Amino acid sequence: MSEKVRVRFAPSPTGPLHIGGVRTALFNYLFAKKHGGDFVLRIEDTDQNRYVEGAEQYIIEALNWCGIPYDEGPNKDSGFGPYRQSERKHLYKKYADELIATGNAYYAFDTSEKLDFHRIDHEAKGKTFIYNWHNRLKLDNSLSRSPEEVKAHLDSGADYVIRFMTPQDEKLKLSDIIRGEIEIDTNILDDKVLFKSDGMPTYHLANIVDDHLMEITHVIRGEEWLPSLALHQQLYDAFGWKAPLFAHLPLIMKPVGKGKLSKRDGEKMGFPIFPLSWKESIGYREAGYFPEAVVNFLALLGWNPGTEKEIFSLEELVQTFSLERVNKSGARFDPDKTKWYNHHYLQAKSDGELAKLYNSVLADKGIPRDACNENYVEKVVSLIKERATYVSDFWELSSYFFIAPSSYNDKAVKKQWKEGTSEIMNQLVSALKDIDDFSSEVVETQVKTWIAAQELSFGRVMPPLRLVIVGDMKGPHLFDIMSLIGKEESITRIQKALNTL
Ligand code: GLU
Repeated sequence: MSEKVRVRFAPSPTGPLHIGGVRTALFNYLFAKKHGGDFVLRIEDTDQNRYVEGAEQYIIEALNWCGIPYDEGPNKDSGFGPYRQSERKHLYKKYADELIATGNAYYAFDTSEKLDFHRIDHEAKGKTFIYNWHNRLKLDNSLSRSPEEVKAHLDSGADYVIRFMTPQDEKLKLSDIIRGEIEIDTNILDDKVLFKSDGMPTYHLANIVDDHLMEITHVIRGEEWLPSLALHQQLYDAFGWKAPLFAHLPLIMKPVGKGKLSKRDGEKMGFPIFPLSWKESIGYREAGYFPEAVVNFLALLGWNPGTEKEIFSLEELVQTFSLERVNKSGARFDPDKTKWYNHHYLQAKSDGELAKLYNSVLADKGIPRDACNENYVEKVVSLIKERATYVSDFWELSSYFFIAPSSYNDKAVKKQWKEGTSEIMNQLVSALKDIDDFSSEVVETQVKTWIAAQELSFGRVMPPLRLVIVGDMKGPHLFDIMSLIGKEESITRIQKALNTL
């Protein structure tokens, strides 16, 4: 590639970014970084009616959280700004005018009531109303009216739109990096609105003008924009501009059944659909996902490395990513796989890092700081993390390291606390008192020796011991737990159980 690669992520600030939008941003980012190019963020806010307060901030925060910040965009101008289309408003009119002057577009005056009437009328006859070559001369526009009438209408300040004049009987050849060559018959296309008399361009005009002015070399976006490609290509041709290369990413599909992944799927099946929380919807960040996990699972939604490898750091993705390895067909979203990734990245973190994260949970639980010095929490984490998917699982898995059980699992009590158990536990306390070095290995050897000497079975001692130490039959190696909570606390717990059971 000789020219500098420039790609853009161009969301409309109409709400929070869907996880699919994050994937689009990610693929743009990976492509840009792989080719030493620029990753631009452009805010497409021409539709003021759909503008949602806070959405732009949300988008920026989401990209930052994922570790894929933009190089160029709002508040990071590299000479191609502004990067919000509402701030570029003044730019677009002249391009719409240029298309009129070159005969590629025309004014249309049809009222929305008239157009609605045609639409409903067509629907009633089982047809779809299309505004194009076959009927434009029968509709109200600068092609069907005399030049004087058109001038009078425009001078009067009445409403108008500017429509693209799609040619008749042409075969358009389109090209997409992922999908290859596509041929489209222009007769099926409609004359899309490019500009409105409120001074605002529509998405189509603003999008291609900006891609041109911002020197975008590759347009990487969701498959839902594929139907717009024919118009966009024609606009580039009409202006005489070199079009960027296009790549339309496959849809992300529902975990089960047909159709694309929606917010409802997440609500029904209990997984986040947004990177960060938005109103009452919990985001991946708040649900306890690590950004590395989100980036990793998103990368494999539609792209495949061509190997069995599933774990990729962002750097590895940058190295390996190519648009040629993006699939055409939809990528099924698998919520279990997202958990699998998070579990993996959690295991990969150091105990120190996890302890830091866990400390804030412990603080919320009211565990006094001195009860959980950094070292202690690290050791706890090292014993239980294997079973955790999220840091938020830690408490459930390890509360007994911080507070003695206040109750005991009923079923386990019935099964483990038998005739004579109290007596055995009592004697065990004496045996424990004699152990000076309370390391896991020493306690284990001593207790096992004691069990043998008493001619007891393991099953008579170990399960009830676990029950009184943990409150349940769960947890890691019991001697690790006892060693960590210490001799005194272990003995206190046994004695407490002797009083209550
Ligand atoms: N503003 C469009 C969107 O919301 C951008 C589509 C494109 O990338 O061309 O997704």
